[in-house]
Amino acid sequence: MPSEHDIAFPRLSRSQIDALRRWGHVRAIAPGEVLFKEGDRGFSFYVVLEGAIEIVEQSRGTPHEVAVHGPGEFTGDVDTLSGRAALVTGRATAPGEVLELTAAALRQAVDALPEVGEIVLKAFLTRRTLLLSDGFEGIKIIGSRFSPDAHRLRDFATRNAIPFTWIDLESDEQAETLLRQFGVPASATPVVIGREGRYLANPTVAELGRCAGLEVAIDPSELHDLIVVGAGPAGLAAAVYAASEGLDVLVVERIATGGQAGTSSRIENYLGFPMGISGAELMRNAQLQAQKFGARITLPGTVQRLGIDAGVRVITLADGTKIRGKCILVATGVEYRRLDVARLSEFEGAGVYYAATETETKLCRNEDIVIVGAGNSAGQAIVALSRYARRVHVVARTRDLGKSMSRYLVDRVEQIDNVVIHRGAVVTALEGDGHLQAIRIRDDAGVETRLNTPGLFLFIGADPHTEWLSGCVQLDKKGFVTTGGAVPLEAVRTDLWRAQGRTPFFLETSLPGVFAAGDVRSGSIKRCASAVGEGAMAVSFIHASLDAASPAKDVPTSAK
Ligand SMILES: Cc1cc2nc3c(=O)[nH]c(=O)nc-3n(C[C@H](O)[C@H](O)[C@H](O)COP(=O)(O)OP(=O)(O)OC[C@H]3O[C@@H](n4cnc5c(N)ncnc54)[C@H](O)[C@@H]3O)c2cc1C
Repeated sequence: MPSEHDIAFPRLSRSQIDALRRWGHVRAIAPGEVLFKEGDRGFSFYVVLEGAIEIVEQSRGTPHEVAVHGPGEFTGDVDTLSGRAALVTGRATAPGEVLELTAAALRQAVDALPEVGEIVLKAFLTRRTLLLSDGFEGIKIIGSRFSPDAHRLRDFATRNAIPFTWIDLESDEQAETLLRQFGVPASATPVVIGREGRYLANPTVAELGRCAGLEVAIDPSELHDLIVVGAGPAGLAAAVYAASEGLDVLVVERIATGGQAGTSSRIENYLGFPMGISGAELMRNAQLQAQKFGARITLPGTVQRLGIDAGVRVITLADGTKIRGKCILVATGVEYRRLDVARLSEFEGAGVYYAATETETKLCRNEDIVIVGAGNSAGQAIVALSRYARRVHVVARTRDLGKSMSRYLVDRVEQIDNVVIHRGAVVTALEGDGHLQAIRIRDDAGVETRLNTPGLFLFIGADPHTEWLSGCVQLDKKGFVTTGGAVPLEAVRTDLWRAQGRTPFFLETSLPGVFAAGDVRSGSIKRCASAVGEGAMAVSFIHASLDAASPAKDVPTSAK
């Protein structure tokens, strides 16, 4: 079995290098020459033919050697394909020669040469894991574990795989020293310290994304074949299939790639993973796969409006940016439902959470926590969090968990020693001062109980993310997007559709060229595999629509 180090730093054979030559060019390197540096984007990929390239990172304040690539070895990690800013610097340490491929050429090469592609992609993924486990600190987030803003920033960084070090004001002495060094009062926290000591006081997630080098430049004059709105399983699947079939694809995502699936601690029923797989890992692989085929992903960007301008479909982001596409795929999924109880918003991010990712797991170590809900996502969270929490109280409106939770999860949950199930119960009040300290629940016999807890996790269902489509495409009574045969007849008996000479395709909305897939679609099965399947299927209808395209004329524009 090759070690992680062998997978991360393989040596290509002479024939593999020869196969790569048609996508690159050979050039000389001189000692001291910087081939790419921390913060660069769109940097090239280098195979060392002769000489050596040293890889250095500076996140700890002083230069730290990560690797030295010799003949047959190559530079790069996931950011070579993602377009994000480089985390490390590559410098020649000896005179020699390299085969240089641009990022675009590398994409074509890994696609055309599956054997080399597998070696390169596995190396890229493993290098990132090794970099993080070797003490790479990334950006620093300083704040109180009780602050909702600090939670918002950590959640964003975790879900977007931004390497970061968390420094807790409540327990880490380094926090005060660093704040003094930067002349920042504790009242201005959370603070993010980025490259070269630049800092941001309580930034928005967009500012944090920029600081971490996430954003992808958008050219408003570009006309994309397909704009995918939402990078959950449906959006990413569509991006993979569309980009691999030659379409120019831009994905716009509000928070983080992965959607709901990315927040799932373990997906056990996704085909091909008999041991289960963490949602974050599944979605990280999907993102790399989409980027490998050339799909671009821009985030954070919230789409607020859909319209048509001179026959072209146009989406408008919250910051006013307009992006033009021949087709749009709506893959905006659903949003977690909130509890109808006083003071909820006061504690969101400060004791009330909607996911059980790594960030929340750390918060509930050795604490008593409460999970509300009786569906599969609640079940998964109970299993995952019970490993860290002292006790997990489950508040379920139903008496029979089996009504909405899969049998295998019910059996597992009922056997965990530190899980206490409160059946037929609801949350009636939240208590705390700045951070949640206790909740009150009442059961169906009217008995009230007070539970001391710093963490309330809500998994009580979800509503569709379609507010940005209202007035533009037809929604069902619950706000989900109707497609195909479910589009009301009066919406199809219009000049717009007569001009198309057809009715909507199976996954097409009431607006020609605008498709919907996944949880957001009326009548869809709310599962990861079905979202992926619909995303993939949508692409064949998108091809058909592009082939038959006739420019759409005056049609409604969505509200907002
Ligand atoms: C905790 C949890 C555990 C789960 N476990 C399982 C499981 O084990 N097995 C299973 O099959 N299913 C599971 N599910 C359900 C599964 O994850 C969903 O069915 C699936 O993620 C739906 O995919 P989607 O792409 O349609 O939507 P989503 O995953 O909801 O993704 C939609 C994306 O669109 C983005 N977005 C929304 N509005 C906008 C906007 N205006 N502009 C830009 N972007 C926007 C969102 O930020 C999000 O990233 C779980 C769900 C949760 C919450």
